Amino acid sequence: MEYTLPPAEKTWENHLLLNAFYPPLTLEQPRRTPMRELISTILSHRTTHADEELAYDRMLEAFGDWAGVLAAPTTELAHAIRTTRWPDTQAPRIQEVLRRIQTQTGGEFHLDFLADWPVEQGMQWLTDMPGIGLKTASLVLLFNFHKPVLPVDTHVHRIAQRVGMIGPKASADKAHQVLLEQLPKDALVLLNFHKHNYWHGQRICLFSKPDCPKCPLKGFCNYYLEHYGPATPEALAATPKQWDTAWGALPH
Ligand code: SF4
Repeated sequence: MEYTLPPAEKTWENHLLLNAFYPPLTLEQPRRTPMRELISTILSHRTTHADEELAYDRMLEAFGDWAGVLAAPTTELAHAIRTTRWPDTQAPRIQEVLRRIQTQTGGEFHLDFLADWPVEQGMQWLTDMPGIGLKTASLVLLFNFHKPVLPVDTHVHRIAQRVGMIGPKASADKAHQVLLEQLPKDALVLLNFHKHNYWHGQRICLFSKPDCPKCPLKGFCNYYLEHYGPATPEALAATPKQWDTAWGALPH
């Protein structure tokens, strides 16, 4: 069973409804520095936020700064980031990423040049580096440089499939391309779309047991239709209009 609302319209409705359901964000919200965003995102692969932060802090405590991390024996770096899932793989990757940044900047460790580059050039440069895929590159370009790109993490991907904004078998990389075509090339819209779907996937549209009665997307969600039938006027009227802080804090 599927709704007839076209996928692009579902995507826009998703944005409008979640923008009303969750607190809207601005581009000016404080962010981690671009270097921290990039390296932390490498550390975060299949790792909890607490363990990622612990690895990041231990790495800089052990080696002082980025030049120290680059010069460190790789086995010692792997030991410092041992709370991550694959420290032996990530340690040489981090050093290679730092080496390329140093080469690009002529000896420094920053990503400021990305602000002036066209989106495609920045995306290409970032994704050419080991361990950096579309999601990580998009996070850095959108969050730190306000470029109009869309990070598709596991939550955005799952919700897009369940609702029917993309095909049920579309990969995360395909979702990145399709959703970006469906949304305006506007960093503020894309930031809110990403964060709201991320929160929604962490708090309501859970992987194992989505809490559909609470969900404002039920009126056009394929998963809901399949499991509950068409959303009734009563079910729609009973749907909360906003996230209730009594349900808990939203993720970072
Ligand atoms: S209705 Fe259910 S499956 Fe659909 S987006 Fe909402 S929580 Fe997820």
